[in-house]
Amino acid sequence: MNDPSLLNADLHCHSDVSDGTLSPEALAARAHANGVQLWSLTDHDEVGGQRRARDAALALGLPYLTGCEVSVTFADRTVHVVGLGFDPDDARLRDGLAATRGGRERRAREMAAGLAQVGIRGAYEGALKYVGNPELISRTHFARFLVEAGHCADTHEVFRRFLVEDKPGYVPHRWARLGDAVRWITDAGGVAVIAHPARYRFTPTEEYALFVEFVAHGGRGVEVVTGSHSTAEYAAYAELAIEFGLLASRGSDFHDPDESRTDLGALPDLPGRLTPVWQALAQRVDRP
Ligand code: AMP
Ligand code: MN
Ligand code: MN
Ligand code: MN
Repeated sequence: MNDPSLLNADLHCHSDVSDGTLSPEALAARAHANGVQLWSLTDHDEVGGQRRARDAALALGLPYLTGCEVSVTFADRTVHVVGLGFDPDDARLRDGLAATRGGRERRAREMAAGLAQVGIRGAYEGALKYVGNPELISRTHFARFLVEAGHCADTHEVFRRFLVEDKPGYVPHRWARLGDAVRWITDAGGVAVIAHPARYRFTPTEEYALFVEFVAHGGRGVEVVTGSHSTAEYAAYAELAIEFGLLASRGSDFHDPDESRTDLGALPDLPGRLTPVWQALAQRVDRP
């Protein structure tokens, strides 16, 4: 039998329903062309693209898992929780995501006010031009506008100079609670996964607390191989997955062909000693 850890699963990416630039259909085609064997679209705080993604994937013969990436505030920091294999019509999940999206417009206006104070005018309207779904206006859309307007060479520079803590366009925001996000996903039949843990820059003590609380709330997985991790971090989070008995996930976090470092399906395999999250979700996969 084939080793399940060798499956080319890509269970994390974004469409223009959130802050990606490609449609769900174009992403399905790209995943398929890149050899992805199990795919999930995980837009931020939104499941509006799920049906389109699933239909496009199945038409190409590509097995599909429902997905989303929920923004969470934990210990005053933003943490992302990916949900996989849930029922996209679940009412409590949909209400929770709608509430999580709710504050984005006001936050965006405050971000624009902060940027105006350092001489960058029209950022709200400028960012809005890049937004497919106005409820999901995000820092990524501001970054694209600031590049277009010539303030920075690329979106990574925009984040560094303007959109992270203590910079003029940064506005602290309260997202969903960790336990709520995990429960919305789990109660809808899915598995909750800590997204790209190395990105949070927690101290080891804070990170340990995140994992302990996540598991206590019913969280079951962690991204080990992601476009956001280095090779050393794959190994470090493989160890943590084993220590906490977590299922391991794999996903590129692809947003855009030019901005994203890692293309759909272009990741190393999961370390073989881990249990892949798709093994626990076999019954939840939509198959052609
Ligand atoms: P938001 O949900 O509005 O706070 O925006 C977060 C999004 O910004 C993430 O999902 C990434 O797509 C993007 N992002 C965060 N940090 C960076 C960075 N350093 N460089 C480029 N994109 C980033
Ligand atoms: Mn994003
Ligand atoms: Mn994320
Ligand atoms: Mn993401």
